[in-house]
Amino acid sequence: MNPLRYLFIDFDSYFASVEQHLDPSLRGRPVGVVPTMAETTSCIAASYEAKRFGVKTGTRVSEARQLCPGIQFVEAEHSVYVHYHERFHAAIEEVIPITKTLSIDEVCCELPKNWRDRSYVENMMLRVQDNLAHKVSPWITCSLGAGPNRFIAKLASKYRKPNGHHIVEQEDLMEFLVQHQLSDLNGVGRNMEARLKRAGIYTVAQMCQCKEETLRKVWGSVHGARMWHALKGDDLAELQTHTSTIGHSHVLAPERRAPHQALKVLHRLLQKATLRLRDKGYVTSRMQLSLRYDSGLRWGHEARFDETCESHPLRYALSELWCLRPAPHETIRKLSVSFFGLKEKTNYTLNLFSQEDPKREAVDQAMDHIVNKFGKQAAYYGGAHGAQKAVQMRIAFNHIPDLILED
Ligand SMILES: [Mg+2]
Repeated sequence: MNPLRYLFIDFDSYFASVEQHLDPSLRGRPVGVVPTMAETTSCIAASYEAKRFGVKTGTRVSEARQLCPGIQFVEAEHSVYVHYHERFHAAIEEVIPITKTLSIDEVCCELPKNWRDRSYVENMMLRVQDNLAHKVSPWITCSLGAGPNRFIAKLASKYRKPNGHHIVEQEDLMEFLVQHQLSDLNGVGRNMEARLKRAGIYTVAQMCQCKEETLRKVWGSVHGARMWHALKGDDLAELQTHTSTIGHSHVLAPERRAPHQALKVLHRLLQKATLRLRDKGYVTSRMQLSLRYDSGLRWGHEARFDETCESHPLRYALSELWCLRPAPHETIRKLSVSFFGLKEKTNYTLNLFSQEDPKREAVDQAMDHIVNKFGKQAAYYGGAHGAQKAVQMRIAFNHIPDLILED
């Protein structure tokens, strides 16, 4: 029997609420927050009043005007949102310690063992809301959820928005879950929903009845098994593995040692490592490139970037590192590329400026799916063209690779 373990706090239309707090003339009115004032840009947040007209994150300004003629647009002020983030953090921590900050407007608290009683949790939720209203602003509200794991607690926090709270205990779990659509579940995006439907799973109720193996197959990764446990109320933290590095190295055959040839092999190594990164469900924030030249010279350099598992920014980071190498005309004997700073992927990052591109993510997912099904030669990025066969089955730095990733 899983106890109530987590409290999840999600602010209601956070950016728009901060703007309404700062400017009283915006209160009670439809507001769209935009990165810059331009008709071609899209809203990065919408107030509840605007949401009622169908405006949401991602709606283009011109479309938002049609949906909601009275809408007011304001330019995003990221430093202000960070300032209020720090203030609400402090106000929450007067009631309960925060375990993890998941994004600018979401935090998760693990409930201490003697704080897991339903009425105690409910009382704590009301105290959090009350403290925020008094110490920060009555206009910046949040919704809270509690559940046996973070996944359920998060879903519960969306249940009575805005300014609400909901508790899901193990015995309420099925009744709560079946009220949702597949797409409501964190981790079921549009592509995954289509894949579930192709597997004959149309409802959350059907999904809850699946075997663990079925979901693993639909996902094609460990995420499916994690979803299965999440739906049962199991604590996902217990499933985490401790991989600290993902990397590949390769000694080049003599005909591949010229820089332009070596670069192709390097892209191939990167693609293998990236595939493994996504298969494990991780994001990385550091990449290291190491080279050994035929001359004996050794060189290594590290790039740091916002957490990602997308191919595009990782290719970009690799290209930047490659350009920094000394002796650009010399032949290279050995290459390696590794990811560090690995973390479990959550759907959000703290970085306000990085705009994840859903199209790129869809391309990555499609690539992974093809490679998992038909093998490594079936799809690869152009940078590796000509080096498909150069990197054969090898043992990675830190573990025996999964066969599917190593054909
Ligand atoms: Mg929110």
